[in-house]
Order: sequence, then structure tokens, then C-alpha cells
Amino acid sequence: MAHPNDSPPSADEHLERQRMRSVRPADWRNPEPAQRYALVVIGAGTAGLTAARMAASLGVRVALVERDLLGGTTLNIGPLPSKAIIRTSRTYAEMFHADRYGGCVPGDIRVDFPRVMRRMRDIRARLSRADSAQSLAAAGVDVFFGEASFTGTDTLEVDGATLRFRKALIATGARPIVPEIPGLAEAGYLTNENAFELNEAPRRLLVIGGGPLGCEMAQAFCRLGVQTSIVQSWPLFLPREERDAAQILSDAFARDGLGVRLNTRVLSIHVEAGGKTAELITDDYRSSVTVDAILLGTGRKASVDSLDLGAAGVAHDHEHGVIVDDFLRTSNPRIYAAGDVCLSYKFTDTAEASARMAARNALLRGRGRLSRLVIPWCTYTDPEIAHVGMYVREARARGISMQTFTVPLHTVHRAIADDEQTGFVKIDVMNHTDRILGATIVAHHAGEMISEITLAMTSGIGLRRLARVIHPYPTQAAAIRLAADACARTLAARRRRWMPGWLRRLARGA
Ligand SMILES: Cc1cc2nc3c(=O)[nH]c(=O)nc-3n(C[C@H](O)[C@H](O)[C@H](O)COP(=O)(O)OP(=O)(O)OC[C@H]3O[C@@H](n4cnc5c(N)ncnc54)[C@H](O)[C@@H]3O)c2cc1C
Repeated sequence: MAHPNDSPPSADEHLERQRMRSVRPADWRNPEPAQRYALVVIGAGTAGLTAARMAASLGVRVALVERDLLGGTTLNIGPLPSKAIIRTSRTYAEMFHADRYGGCVPGDIRVDFPRVMRRMRDIRARLSRADSAQSLAAAGVDVFFGEASFTGTDTLEVDGATLRFRKALIATGARPIVPEIPGLAEAGYLTNENAFELNEAPRRLLVIGGGPLGCEMAQAFCRLGVQTSIVQSWPLFLPREERDAAQILSDAFARDGLGVRLNTRVLSIHVEAGGKTAELITDDYRSSVTVDAILLGTGRKASVDSLDLGAAGVAHDHEHGVIVDDFLRTSNPRIYAAGDVCLSYKFTDTAEASARMAARNALLRGRGRLSRLVIPWCTYTDPEIAHVGMYVREARARGISMQTFTVPLHTVHRAIADDEQTGFVKIDVMNHTDRILGATIVAHHAGEMISEITLAMTSGIGLRRLARVIHPYPTQAAAIRLAADACARTLAARRRRWMPGWLRRLARGA
């Protein structure tokens, strides 16, 4: 019963309660376990939810175990909340730079951080309904809340109950890596697990780590008026990406006013009256930065600690997490794994695709192979950096000779009209053919544009055929057609070179 002095919940509390009603209902009672499940799924993030729903749609008995919140990282503490915040930060950046678009910069631009977070919480609460315990139960999934740990090769325990299974899927995801920096624990830090609970913006922020998570969050906080520095131990951000793409990002950060410190390591942190001071070293040069909050973007590692994988005979190691073969099967043939817990590509799209494959392989004796997946990804900075397929350096290492077709965005009408000319579309094909091996796109909406290339690669469509695709005018995706045109011209010129002279003259109409 409500206490008479209880104040009504704030809008934020209301939204959080709404989300909890879906993803962790307080009055939930775990069901009586079935005698044996065709599939038990551990972890209800993107991978686990996908597999459980798929199994239920096949009409088999399926249990889903979650120790924390349904929806996992994607819904609660990862892509969804971060993208909601990034969207607002882009709006502010556009307001601050309205003059670039022929507008007037409004006189008093004040960032209302609590409002930014409320919008994110509203989106999260709305989308949580799709992942709710109630909707899963209605679909025929037995939902168990509690921490799962294996007790044998075909049994596990959750909340005092034993679940027997014919097949199991480990989908327990990954957690942030906390680097060993003296003083970090004492100073306190944010990770993706608590950053979305902030209600007030820190005045000054240090982001440690220049991978996708660190870069996205650093730029977003900076654009929301937080004095932000980002420290990266490598000479460039996003070390996996092509150098020219990463360089564009460094330049964009500098334009935003982000304090960029490349080639820099944090030696130690100590707390003093004015804040948290990080001692830094860049090559041989020592410096320091004082901030109010520290956010870690130092990578994520597979979450396997509580599973007692040894009891189930499932091999794992520190670097790879759960070890799977190309069919996503672990060293115990009854048990499969999908998503961040076993993949080096830690993305929502890969978690979903791998879970679908693992469920099919486990339940329908499918032979889907991980190595056949064409996996695109994107870092949602501004500009976005998207990639699919092989990198040039990988092709070189494998002795594959490539030809690259590059279209800078400053030659694309829509990019010019939008004043979003910093970036490019770069498509790599196997030499002397139009077979696409990989592509990198740096553009405002690169994440949307990369799908056209992914579709072509998945369907075995050569780059030359994309030259025939009519793109609405004007779009930035027209850059893909321009690259395809260049490829078609190059192949035609090559064909002409090999023609006998009489045929060449005929072709020219001479
Ligand atoms: C800030 C951030 C931004 C991101 N942005 C993007 C993006 O833009 N695009 C993209 O594609 N990817 C992004 N990612 C990565 C993406 O979130 C993950 O790849 C994806 O969520 C992985 O899904 P999963 O199902 O494998 O794991 P998770 O979603 O982590 O789910 C695992 C679940 O297992 C549960 N669990 C763990 N152990 C146990 C146990 N013993 N018993 C029961 N349950 C257990 C956990 O509580 C968790 O709910 C981002 C990640 C972060 C952190």
C-alpha cells in the first residue's frame, strides 16, 4: 500500500517501471520445469530471444533463462539507448552549426540533459514490450529468471530447479573489460552498464578507449555540452577500420572540440578536491587531465564465469569465450553457442544471425556455417563508418589481388546539398572481375548505405550489375552506383584491349 507521504513517481521512474514490468516483472513466478526440453537457452539478449522464439515457432518445448533483464545488452544498456542519445546529440550539433546549412544559430542553446535521458528511457520502455516475459510466455516459451549453471552434460540449474535438455544454447553475451589502472577502482568509473542511468551530465568526462563504443559515446557526450577527452593507446581510432576512415573520424572529433589523445595510455588515476585526475603518457611525454567522470570503452569479454562450463564439458578460454566450430557447436555436441559469448564480431546483427543458425543446426540438423555469413557493421559516429567483407590488408595477407573503386562524397550531389561531403564509398573487387570482396563507407548514414553492398555480396551480384540499379536522385547512395559505373568502364576497357583489332574497330563503329 502506498504511504501517504510517498511522492508520485517522476516521469523517469514511471518509464523505468514500465520497462521493468516487461523485462523483469516483480511478480513473475518461474514455471514448473518440463520433464525435458528440446532446447534450453541461457541468456535472453538478442541471441537468446531469437533462438527461443524460433524454437517456439517450431512447436518444440523451449526454456529461456535470464539472470538479469530480458532484452539483454541491445535493449537495456547498449545499441538502443546509445543510438537514442546519439540522435539527440546530432540535433544539438546541427543547431550549433546551423549557419553551415544557411540557418541562424539560435541565441541560447542549452542542453537539457535530463530530457535527453528521458527520451531515451521512453524509447526503451516502448520497445521493451516486444521483449516482454508475457509475450514470450504467450508464444510458448518457458521463461525462468535466475542465474543458470550447468550441473551435467544435459542438465542445468536455475533458482533451485533442474532443467533437462536435449539441446542447449549458450547466449550469455559479454561484459565490459575493466583495465588494470592504479586508482581506477577507487576513483569510480562508468561503463555501458551504468552510464544510461545518469540523470545529470558530468561537466568534464574522460573516455578511455577509442573503439566503437568509446568513439560513439565520446562524440555524443561532447555534442551534449560535456567537456570530453578521449584517450586511445593506438595511433588511430577504430584500429580495425581502414586508415583513411579512421583519420576522417579523428578530424571530425577535433572539429567537434573533443580532446583527442592518440598514442596515449592512462598510467594512474587519483582523486583530488577538484575531481579525478588521470596521469597520461603519450610516447615519452607525460601530461594529466582532470575530469568529473570516467567512461570505459576498453572492450568486452565473454560472460561465462557463473556457468560452470566444466560440468558440461564445454571448452572456453579467456580470449575467445566459448569455443565453437563452424556450425556453432561447442565441445559438447548437445550444446551450441551464439552471439557475443563466442564470436569475435560482437554485434547485434551477428548475434541474431548466429542464433538463428545455431537453433536451426541444433533442432533441424541444419548445416549452416558461420564462415558463410556476410557480416556488415557500423560505428555510429558522425560521420558513420560502415564496413562489410574483407579489408584490403586481409586480402593482401591472403595473397588476393584486389582493385578498389573509390568515390569521394564531395563529388556526390546529395552529399554536397547536405553539406556532408566528408567521407567516401570504397568498394574492393577481386582483380579483373566485378566480384565484391569488401566495402567501407564513411558517410552521415553509412549504416543504411552498406546494406546495398551486403545484399550484393550475399546474393552473388557483381559490382558491375549495381551500375544498372536506378537510385532515386539525389541520394548519397548514388555513390555506390558511381563506383559500379567505374568498375563497369574498367572491365569494358580491359575487354576491348584483348579484342582482335578488327573487332575493336567494329566495336568503335569505325
Ligand atoms: C554501448 C554499446 C553499444 C553498442 N552498439 C551496437 C550497435 O550500434 N550495433 C550493433 O550491432 N551492436 C552494438 N553493440 C553490441 C551489441 O549490443 C551486442 O553484440 C549484442 O547485444 C549481443 O547480444 P547477445 O545476445 O550475444 O548478448 P547480450 O545481449 O549481452 O545478452 C546476454 C544475456 O545473458 C544473460 N546472462 C549472462 N550469464 C547468464 C547466466 N549464467 N544465466 C542466465 N543469464 C545469463 C545476461 O544477463 C544478458 O541478458 C553495442 C554494445 C554496447 C555495449
